[in-house]
Amino acid sequence: MLWSKTFIPTLRDDPTDAVIASHRLLLRAGYIRQLTAGVYNYLPLMQNVIHRIEKIVREEMNDSGAVEITMPVLHPAEIWQKSGRWEVVGREQMRMKDRHLRDLVLGGTHEEVITSLLAGELQSYRQVPLNLYQIQVKFRDEKRPRFGLMRGREFIMKDAYSFDVDIEGLKIAYNKMADAYFKIFRRCGFDIKMVESDVGAMGGTGAHEFMVLVETAGGEEVILACPRCEYSANVEKATSLVMADESAEEIQPKKNEMVYTPGMKTVEEVTAFLRVGPEQLVKTLLYQADGETVAALIRGDRDINEIKLKNHLRCIELEMSPPEKVIRATGAAVGFAGPVGLKGIRIVADPEIRSMRNFVVGANKDDTHIVGVNPGDFQVSEYSEIRKAEAGEICPHCNQGRLEAYSGIEVGNIFKLGTKYSEALGARYIDADGNENPFVMGSYGIGVTRTAQAAVEAFHDDKGIIWPKAIAPYDFHLVPLNITDDEQKAVAFEIYEGLREKGYTVLIDDRDERPGVKFNDADLVGVPIRISIGSRGLKEGVIEVVRRRGLEVEKVPVKEAVKRAVEIWENL
Ligand code: ATP
Ligand code: MG
Repeated sequence: MLWSKTFIPTLRDDPTDAVIASHRLLLRAGYIRQLTAGVYNYLPLMQNVIHRIEKIVREEMNDSGAVEITMPVLHPAEIWQKSGRWEVVGREQMRMKDRHLRDLVLGGTHEEVITSLLAGELQSYRQVPLNLYQIQVKFRDEKRPRFGLMRGREFIMKDAYSFDVDIEGLKIAYNKMADAYFKIFRRCGFDIKMVESDVGAMGGTGAHEFMVLVETAGGEEVILACPRCEYSANVEKATSLVMADESAEEIQPKKNEMVYTPGMKTVEEVTAFLRVGPEQLVKTLLYQADGETVAALIRGDRDINEIKLKNHLRCIELEMSPPEKVIRATGAAVGFAGPVGLKGIRIVADPEIRSMRNFVVGANKDDTHIVGVNPGDFQVSEYSEIRKAEAGEICPHCNQGRLEAYSGIEVGNIFKLGTKYSEALGARYIDADGNENPFVMGSYGIGVTRTAQAAVEAFHDDKGIIWPKAIAPYDFHLVPLNITDDEQKAVAFEIYEGLREKGYTVLIDDRDERPGVKFNDADLVGVPIRISIGSRGLKEGVIEVVRRRGLEVEKVPVKEAVKRAVEIWENL
């Protein structure tokens, strides 16, 4: 491809609206342009990357026995109402009305569509196992679209759905997908980790996420992993053992004493004022769970895991209570809520509270806390683990290792759905004895566009992108320093044709630009190998082959240019 004949609008300066490196680089290097929040144009270089990722995905999916189809993007509301997800997905769903004022949905995932399709077509246990997939645009009205392609409102996904007669069958299908995912992401060049994850709105019996490990900034997800065993989980799901030492402290005789804590609302303020550690305080957080006020208790130095709380409460919407609800429930301003004497609301406490002694809580009275409180002093509705597990805590699996935190980007996930959708949408089969049963399903997603950006987040330096060779937009980038020089131009095009004849994709910078501009753009765009052709080198009969990673330069005789460049590429 000739640079002058394609469209690569590189920017000299960093765009100001991009926070993370990969987003910045994709804009600067001319891969993407935003149309509106979370909605992007994929420019020619990005299109090439997407094609390459999709090719890898197709090959491995087909190899695993899955079969490609294409389902509609436009769905009738009825199938979502039937599955019960019309309410659950709620405002994340892109909805509209047609001319007859019927509700329509732009699909964000396709469990409802595939299950409705197969409900009408599959009858017998002999027709499965079946795994159907597609690669398609998805729409989700994300609360916070951000970081470019990482969290878009329109994005490309590979989604697959397996149908089996029983759990055993599902396990086989699930493991096949896990194997295929490892192959896909390793071929893409990633250090990939499979971690346990929360099933969320999808429902079902188990799930794993595939995470690309990154340094930090661009990692949307935190993973906790045990260095001693295979346990690793998304922090949304991760649990840990905390060293509860029940006998550490005696209950002190001076109990439940009200203390005046004027204006002290935060854990830091209260504990500093009372000269105790934050682990000596119990935080009472008030939430609205589908409209009902609920109190959540955790130790003062812990963070709450709202996903765990939401799962425990089995609610659809969970939000911190607004000040007026806090006042109504506790009789005090925000910052002074506590479990003692708190009547008429459900209190969920983290089990760690049980082993705490002589702690501090809010008094449900303005500017007041209670000290010397113990678990018997108030009524807990249920104990449930609702704290966020943290690095340094003990592994819940081997009970030995201390969890370590990693930053990751979720590029894919796999769910054991079970029979939730097949029951709701009537996808049943007749077994060998003539009985009717719902199919047992699995669902498997890969974010194609997120994967593309994850590669940039994982592989770049201060000059630009460093594409893994399997998903680079081109294999080689030729830079004749001066395109108006006939000799340089002739040599460059000879190498161009030579590489293309061998089946490689090549970008040649045929612009009449200064060498500095071309080199900067080449570094930015990030093709794995650059070949520079300049008059000084040609006098000695050499060109330069430069690996993008490390920018290592090798002088190669013109005659051997193609052969040597290919050798270097093959060994990257
Ligand atoms: P997340 O927790 O990031 O919102 P999810 O659990 O909603 O992800 P799935 O519904 O399982 O994700 O979608 C499958 C894959 O699609 C994800 O692993 C991710 O790679 C990708 N994906 C999900 N949401 C987005 C988005 N808003 N923009 C880009 N890719 C996305
Ligand atoms: Mg999501």
